[in-house]
Parts: sequence; structure tokens; C-alpha cells
Amino acid sequence: MGLIPESVIEEVLTRADIESVVSRYVLLKRQGGNMWGLCPFHSEKTASFSVNPSKNIFKCFGCGKGGNAINFIMEIEHMSYPEAIRHLAGLYGVEVPETGYSGESSQKEERDRVKDILKEAAKFYYKAFNDESTGKPARDYAAKRGLTKQTLDNFGIGYSPINWTALYDHLKQKGYKDEELLNSGIFAKSEKTGKPYDLFRGRLMFPIFDSFGTIIAFGGRALGDEKPKYINSPDSLVYNKQNHLYAMNFARKEQAKQLIVVEGYMDAIAMHAAGFKNTVAALGTSFTDSQLKLCSRYAEEVVFFFDADAAGQKAALRAIQMMMEYLKKLTGINIRIRIAKVPDGKDPDEYIKTNGAEKFKDVVKNALYVEDYLLARAKDDNTDPETGELDRGRYQKDICIYGSWMNDEIKMSRMAGVAAPLLGATSQAVMNQMIKFQQAEEKKHEQQDSRALERQRIQDIAGRNKADMDINALDEPVEVAPSQPVFKKVVDTATKDEIDLFAYALSLGNALADSKKIDKTDIIRPNDFSGDTIRELVRIFLNIFDGRNETLFARMSDYFSKLTINGMPAEDVMLKAVENADRSSNVDIKRDMYLALLFKVRTSIIDREEENLISRRASASDEEKAKIDEMLRRLSEYKLTLRNKIGEL
Ligand SMILES: [Zn+2]
Repeated sequence: MGLIPESVIEEVLTRADIESVVSRYVLLKRQGGNMWGLCPFHSEKTASFSVNPSKNIFKCFGCGKGGNAINFIMEIEHMSYPEAIRHLAGLYGVEVPETGYSGESSQKEERDRVKDILKEAAKFYYKAFNDESTGKPARDYAAKRGLTKQTLDNFGIGYSPINWTALYDHLKQKGYKDEELLNSGIFAKSEKTGKPYDLFRGRLMFPIFDSFGTIIAFGGRALGDEKPKYINSPDSLVYNKQNHLYAMNFARKEQAKQLIVVEGYMDAIAMHAAGFKNTVAALGTSFTDSQLKLCSRYAEEVVFFFDADAAGQKAALRAIQMMMEYLKKLTGINIRIRIAKVPDGKDPDEYIKTNGAEKFKDVVKNALYVEDYLLARAKDDNTDPETGELDRGRYQKDICIYGSWMNDEIKMSRMAGVAAPLLGATSQAVMNQMIKFQQAEEKKHEQQDSRALERQRIQDIAGRNKADMDINALDEPVEVAPSQPVFKKVVDTATKDEIDLFAYALSLGNALADSKKIDKTDIIRPNDFSGDTIRELVRIFLNIFDGRNETLFARMSDYFSKLTINGMPAEDVMLKAVENADRSSNVDIKRDMYLALLFKVRTSIIDREEENLISRRASASDEEKAKIDEMLRRLSEYKLTLRNKIGEL
């Protein structure tokens, strides 16, 4: 915190109103003052995810996630705090200064260093590929695969020489340290010597770019039959294979409404060479939800090619189930999914080579919509190839499972309509069965989720308060008897009056700073509260508070999420109390409530203090007694002032 100027964070939070930020991902419906939708962070059927536009925050009452627009982006885009701020700043046109990033900068520097290493490695591989003698086996292989000079250059394809330290030596010469080289993911560490050595040797090298064309990893293909056929560099500081798609940097520029997804990067390259420049490839994993989201950023429709073999077809079903699940949840994302099938079980690449690009366009055009693909699958998978007979029992089961994946009733009813005659049943009966499957599946999920959520919630609460809460930073020194340990246990208790008092202060916002309405001495202080965590929150509130309250709650939510009050997440406790305080829209009534609570809380502090002093007085020396009497006199005077103030209300 404090690394990015507070003014920038505030501007981001002011411009990036929570409703528009969340609406990019979740379909929201207005109900009362709040907006509601299905939570994108846990699976659910009824909306427990709420957005409060006036406070600029979101809160899920199912899984407990909540916070401001920055927290939302961190969670849904898997970004760090500064990354999320930059992301929002970019979307909403706020300038983020490059300097003043001290804390983030070391990580950013490390990442930049890794990107430099990868770029340097790509140059090295490219040079080796084109080196007359070293690169010959690679060039021969590329020629055999029909890769033209233009394609090779376009994709930056290179060659890793058969040598354990060729790249290592080269980069060491350029001044990179072993630790930095190991961060890049393209070196392994020798167990014997502890030194890095080249991960890729004797392979055709494919730089993997992010959507904007920066090299973030490498894939290497064997030139012959050696195993493994493909090696990809592992996830690193700059690379998470689940979040990227190969060739997206080129496909994105096509601005086509459709993206084609193939299985490997060789397929993608062949497709680009044949003129299908809107093609991308998953990177050695099954297709993920973040990859689908990435696609939805650039296109309206995705056409999938899965390998024709059994493994490929299994992967197809898995991917479809995952995608439908995802689309059910994120109604904000609108993308059509189609599945293409290359005739004769060929690769797209092979097919194009035999039949030409024009014919292949028809293959893409004939891609089936998800529900049609699944109908065909259920039928093909359960028909005896010899006799042509349909195994009805198995067909029924498959159809009902596939139907239950659908995210709308129209698709479901279409499937039921097609399957019904084959089952000798009415389409209503088939549809009912699909819905039953869906409900059973949801129930199972919800049970699993609620168990997982409960575990996470307990962990979450247990993990709070440790969050670098510096007790010594509290306004008043903590008295520590010499025999006691210096570190004091964090106390998170707060009375109902204290919580309500703080809530009214938050709710009053601007009015609290209005000296005509509220005397300066009547602004809450950390000392008014008994627990450490609520004191800390009040201290932070007073630090950020500047009389402008549009973003106050949103800015507080960062701190709320780190601490508990009475063993509960602080934001849960405070949000509920503030909502209660907000019920009255009349500022004067709110102020009176605030003052009444303040006086009550302060009076009870004085009462406790008085009791303390009186018990000390019993065993005090005469000199001390005089002092205590003076203190008691001042306290009762102050109590009287408070009583008068309460009387005036
Ligand atoms: Zn949730």
C-alpha cells in the first residue's frame, strides 16, 4: 500500500464505478438500492452476489468475497494489486505515473529482466537456425513440414543447438545472473553442480507470445522421434499457460468475429500459412475458462478443432462441459461455441494440404453448434458400427447428461426434440429428465462448494489480523509490563455500540467534517474503541478521510478485508452496520444518532476509568491520592459536559 499515489487510486475508484466494472463479467439486476447477480467466484443458482453502487463496492453473501473495483479485478483477472489498478486505469483513462512504484518495481524489474532474457534467447535460437552448419537439421525438418521462409520468420522460429550450455554461455556473456536465468523457465538446474543448463537442446524452437506480442515462453519440438515430442517451458514470473493462447497476438489483429482454436502450435502455424489468420492454439493443456474469456475479448464465436483420435474426442467433451459451466455462470460473456470436424479424421493441416484452403473454408462453415455436436456424439458413440443398431439405454443416459450442460432451455428443448423419436418418448419427458440431471448435478456442486467455501472461510478468518497489523503504530502507546512479552495479542473485540458508532461515522461521511454540524472534539478517535482491530480501522479511516466520501467505503474495503471484528470478517460486520445506519437518509437524524452513540461510548470509558482510579486510590499514598482526586474531578466534569450534550439532542 502507499506505493501508488493515493490520488491515483482514488481517481481510478471514482471513474471505474463498480457497476460498470462488474457488468463486464456478470449480468446484474436491480433490486432495491443494490444490484444482484450470480457470483463469478463460486457456483450458485440463486444470486447472492451484490453490488452497491452508492458505496462502490461488491459483496457475495455466498462465498464472502467482497471489496472495491480493484479487488474485483484482482480476483477475476488473477492480477496483483498494482496490475489491477493499471488495468482499470487503462480502461477508464486514468494516468498512472511510472515512478513512485517502489514496492512493485522490484518485481516488475525481475519480470522485465526475464522478458529480456527470453527475447535474447529467441534471437539466439533464430541465429542458430539460420547458421549454415548448426541449423541444417532444423532447416531440413522445417522444409519437410512445408514451412516457408516467410512463415518461419513470421513466427520467429529457431533452433536450439545440441549442447548443454550453448544458450547459458551466451546469456552469461551478456551479463545475466544464474538466478535470473533460472527465473526465465528455459534453464534447468543441475543437481550435481547447482548450475543452470539449457532446457532445450536439438529442438525446433517456437517463441510463445502474449496477446500483445511479447515473448513469454518457448515450446520446442523434437526433430525426429525422440521423446517427448514437445517440451514447453514451465509457468514462470511472466507466463501462465492457462491464461494464454498461441498466436493470439496475430489473430487479434484480424479483428475477425470468429476465432478458430486448434490443438497444437504446428496446427496453428499451418492454418496461418494457409490464410486462416484468426487461428489460435491452446498451449499443451485442455482449454481453460480464462482462455475462453480471452477469446470473448476479441470475438463473438469460437470454432474448435479437436483431434479425431479417442483422446482428442474425450478432450472435446471435457472442454465443452467446462465451457458450458462457465457460460452458465458468467452471463455477461457472450460467445458462441461451435465444434468443427475434419472429414476422414485428418488434421486441419493435412486436409488443407490435400484439398486446398477453399475446401477447408467449408469445413469451418459446417462446424456444428454445441448442442448439435453433442446430439451427433451421443448417437455415434452408441451406435454399433457393424449392425447400425442404437444402444438406447446408453444413448438416453448420454443425451440427458449433455442436455443438462446447456445454459438455456431453448437449446435443451431442441436436443430433447431430436432425441425423443429415437427413444420412443415425448420430448417433454426427455426434457424433464435433463432438468432432473441438471438439478442433481447442481446440488452436488453446491454441497461440494459449500464445504469448500466453509473451509476457505475458516482459513480466511484465521489468516486475518496477522496481516501486518502493527500494534505499535496505534495512536496511543500500548503499556507493556516489563515481564510480559513485547508482542501483544491482537484483540478483535468490539461492543455493539462501538460498531454502530463507527458505522454512523462511515455513513455520515461528508457531514462528519462539517464543523457547523459536528464539533471537532466530537469526531471519533481510536481511543474511543476498546479492540485493536477496530481501533486500527478507525485510525485508517481518519487518515484517508478528507471530507469527500464518494470513494470512502471503497478505499476502506482494502483494510476491512484484512481484519476481523469479534471473529467475523470486518467488512461483513461493518457493512451490515452501515446499511442499518444508512436507513435514515436525513443527515440531522443520523448525526444525532452518531452523537448519542459517541457520548454513550465515551461515558462508559469514563465509568471504567473512574472505577480504575477508585480502586487504585484505596492503596495509594497521600500524594497520589491528591492526583487521583484531581483526575476524578476532571472526569466527572467531562461526563457532565457529555450529559449536557446528550440532553441537547
Ligand atoms: Zn460468491
